[in-house]
Amino acid sequence: MPKGQPGTRSNYGRVTDEVVARLAAIVGNKNVLTGEERENYTRDEMPGKRSFLPEVVVKPENSRSVAEILKLANEKVIPVTPRGGGTGLSGGAAPIYGGIVLSLEKMNRILEIDKVNFVATVEAGVLLSDLLEAVNEQGLYYPLYPGEASAAIGGNVATNAGGMNAVKYGVTRHFVLGLEIVLPTGEIIQTGGKFVKCSTAYDLTQLIVGSEGTLAVITKVLLRLVTPPRKTEMLFVPFHSLRAAIGSVPDILQRGILPVGIEFMERDMINLAEQYTGKEIPLHDHEAFLMILLEGENDKEIHRQANEIASICLNNGAVDVFMPAGSRAKRDLLEAREKFYYALQRFGMVDFADVVVPRSNIAEFVETAHRMGEEHQIPIIALGHAGDGNVHLTLMGQAGGEDEAGVKKLLSKLCQVGVSLGGTISGEHGLGFAKKDYLPIADSASKIELMKRIKRAFDPKGIMNPGKIFSLE
Ligand SMILES: Cc1cc2nc3c(=O)[nH]c(=O)nc-3n(C[C@H](O)[C@H](O)[C@H](O)COP(=O)(O)OP(=O)(O)OC[C@H]3O[C@@H](n4cnc5c(N)ncnc54)[C@H](O)[C@@H]3O)c2cc1C
Repeated sequence: MPKGQPGTRSNYGRVTDEVVARLAAIVGNKNVLTGEERENYTRDEMPGKRSFLPEVVVKPENSRSVAEILKLANEKVIPVTPRGGGTGLSGGAAPIYGGIVLSLEKMNRILEIDKVNFVATVEAGVLLSDLLEAVNEQGLYYPLYPGEASAAIGGNVATNAGGMNAVKYGVTRHFVLGLEIVLPTGEIIQTGGKFVKCSTAYDLTQLIVGSEGTLAVITKVLLRLVTPPRKTEMLFVPFHSLRAAIGSVPDILQRGILPVGIEFMERDMINLAEQYTGKEIPLHDHEAFLMILLEGENDKEIHRQANEIASICLNNGAVDVFMPAGSRAKRDLLEAREKFYYALQRFGMVDFADVVVPRSNIAEFVETAHRMGEEHQIPIIALGHAGDGNVHLTLMGQAGGEDEAGVKKLLSKLCQVGVSLGGTISGEHGLGFAKKDYLPIADSASKIELMKRIKRAFDPKGIMNPGKIFSLE
């Protein structure tokens, strides 16, 4: 570990002129930023958007350069914060100890789309939007959509991103077949491969997925692809109560229907989205809504699914079942859903929880959360992925007027309730530094200590994204 007190900035080496010159020798002057342009690398999209200025930003163009940068950082004990698209919601890409931001933005080549083995091999800086387009052009499909298309694939892997389509397809880790990673000591390692089965020793691929840049830099990713669905459909279902809406979810799944995604939202969220986009959402006056995404082989199959779901929802007290006519109407609704985060940001989000609970406990969790919000006088807007139990609770307030300690206390209680209902504290955004204080609520001391030992084995000097997930002490 660095000398002195771990976890404080003074433990780490500084980026001196000599270090900058050596970085420039590795990646070229144009790929080293030491001036005002560093402002673009100070934070991600986490609520509150706290900023931390890195001493230097480097933009390597290949894995060898990444290895050289890490060797240098390791020698000088300089913190390194890997960065993809900077769309994370937990402060993971914020360089909280200064040091080096290692941006993967120039490692953005799609290396291969293997149509025989259904595998895409991409550099870590490829944007999700570019991957989706390239795969689509080849007649294949990458079915995950974790909310923000300007995220990079390396970031999706490092956070084990989820999104709306998890009910049918799972999350990023279910599509990562292999990786190229660079260790802080500069070794380049390949994990996994273009195969589905692997029982050969420890599964390092899955250890790196979700490690938030704290163990190694991901430089290449092998992703599993599938064939595209022939037909897609959407149902938008208003209910008089959240409990009735959420209660329909297990009934749908128990009937053997597997929607791609089932989202829930409350009226307050719909109203904010309408104000933000200036577009009216159909049936917007009701208490709670399900948005159900379906895929099928043909019209007959998809209509059979839709009819069955409609009758389940109506039996459970749905007010109506709306199937948007035409792709434009569907796109409008999906776009409104994708704008939720920005609408919340504009209208007073002060923080949020990304708790996941078993599907059967969502209604109890959300009702308890609302009660707690009232006790703390902090309004809560709930929405999320009803089909997979991932609830996003947004704590609302007056910009700058909220009591920070009160918000943290409420978040901590919400995490405790989520865990007591059989869940955990982050379903898809990761802990970064925003949520790391809550880790002991979810995991035992011995489990956290084991994770710290793994961290030290990868990164003995503690240079990789320090202060994220947990602090080493
Ligand atoms: C509007 C909006 C909607 C969103 N919706 C969803 C959603 O539905 N589901 C969901 O899961 N997320 C969602 N997110 C969060 C975000 O898009 C994801 O967390 C995404 O995976 C982050 O990718 P990124 O490239 O932007 O990563 P960054 O923010 O750049 O980094 C995230 C973390 O990964 C690390 N990292 C990045 N690249 C590498 C690398 N190459 N090697 C090692 N570590 C690396 C960083 O150090 C950091 O800890 C949303 C965000 C926004 C703004």
